[in-house]
Amino acid sequence: MASVSFSKHKKAKALKPGSRRPAKELCSECGLCDTYYIQYVREACAFINQKFEQLETQSHGRDRNLDNPDELYFGVYQNMMAARKIEPIPGAQWTGIISTIAINMLNHGLVEGVICVQNTKEDRFQPMPIIARTPEEILAARVNKPTLSPNLSVLEEIDRLGLKRVLVIGVGCQIQALRAIEKKLGLEKLYVLGTPCVDNVTRAGLQKFLDTTNTSPETVVHYEFMQDFRVHFKHEDGSTETVPFFGLKTNQLKDVFAPSCMSCFDYVNSLADLVVGYMGAPYGWQWIVVRNDIGKEMLELAKDQIQTQPVFSKGDRKQAVQQSIPAYDQGITLPMWAAKLMGVVIDKIGPKGLEYARFSIDSHFTRNYLYVRRNYIKKLKAHVPEFAKRIVAQYKLPD
Ligand code: FAD
Ligand code: SF4
Repeated sequence: MASVSFSKHKKAKALKPGSRRPAKELCSECGLCDTYYIQYVREACAFINQKFEQLETQSHGRDRNLDNPDELYFGVYQNMMAARKIEPIPGAQWTGIISTIAINMLNHGLVEGVICVQNTKEDRFQPMPIIARTPEEILAARVNKPTLSPNLSVLEEIDRLGLKRVLVIGVGCQIQALRAIEKKLGLEKLYVLGTPCVDNVTRAGLQKFLDTTNTSPETVVHYEFMQDFRVHFKHEDGSTETVPFFGLKTNQLKDVFAPSCMSCFDYVNSLADLVVGYMGAPYGWQWIVVRNDIGKEMLELAKDQIQTQPVFSKGDRKQAVQQSIPAYDQGITLPMWAAKLMGVVIDKIGPKGLEYARFSIDSHFTRNYLYVRRNYIKKLKAHVPEFAKRIVAQYKLPD
């Protein structure tokens, strides 16, 4: 791959912090515009120029097969499995598979640096992207920062440090912009380790979410929307608290999610080489999607540190999704007793494994499709990818 000189990029100037971004209110603060790579923003930004098919082919050698029901939902893949660390990393979001793979890649000399995100000293949820050069720095980035995070803001450092082999950890919108400018980075090898992502928020939005859902917002260190249809919060003292999805104060939370996330259709991080989430796996396990040979090489390094089992699918999500559409749309909130009861019933008879993942994808894609149709009608055709159009077409939407 041709190397790109530092001086060539220097001509373009990063935007000042806090200034309006080219994607305007749809900006997900991916960090690209905080670097001289802003010169490629019109081509690269996930919210200005959606181009999944082209980038899937560039990343995996082909685009997804829309007639294969699993690829329609989960993107191009070679292999899927449920997995967990035999010795989980304390303080990781789940069992720490992401941090483990990144550390192994550094220790084996596959890469010289890892783009990941720590938090600032002052605030446990304020993201601070870094290029980690030691296992300790990768470990310090473990656990989700459940806020928009400018992971790509450290891209200029690659040039400055003269790095040639890099791993980037990130969510879909960051990875779309990264893939679009990949060839400009002058790297010999780029590895991409992704997580699924949905319903992200600004730091202020996160506070509102915690304040409206939680008895002790200041002590929450970790939360996740789990497969048992509850949000699980973990507090500083190790105690946990669960709130049923259906009991969330949807009326107050309607505007809390970032407009970028309300118009995103890359829940499953289609362009990463390897994706590690949880939603297609049984409770307590993580869900791994190997998209290509590079992803296979990355996972291979951790094979002695993880237990795996095949993915499975149980139940039928369709009715639950159809019922969730007006609840999201009109901001309906159930009384807590009814929400708890509904949570228990759905957990017993509801979708499990890959069917749960499809439930989550369907309910978010229908909501997001309505959001884009109402707020950005001119963008609708080009912005919504074909796979998402087909998924949404399975449901009856309100006008
Ligand atoms: P750890 O070893 O704890 O490592 C976490 C890694 O995530 C770190 O390397 C860190 O750099 C990176 N990271 C943290 N915050 C961010 C951020 N804001 N942006 C980019 N990178 C970040 N999985 C699902 O299956 N369904 C979901 O709906 C879902 N939503 C998610 C929403 C967000 C905002 C994020 C960040 C992740 C989401 N995930 C989701 C992924 C899941 O929560 C775990 O992150 C994943 O399973 C890895 O767990 P782990 O223990 O292996 O990670
Ligand atoms: Fe720039 Fe990223 Fe915002 Fe798009 S999403 S405007 S590329 S910072």
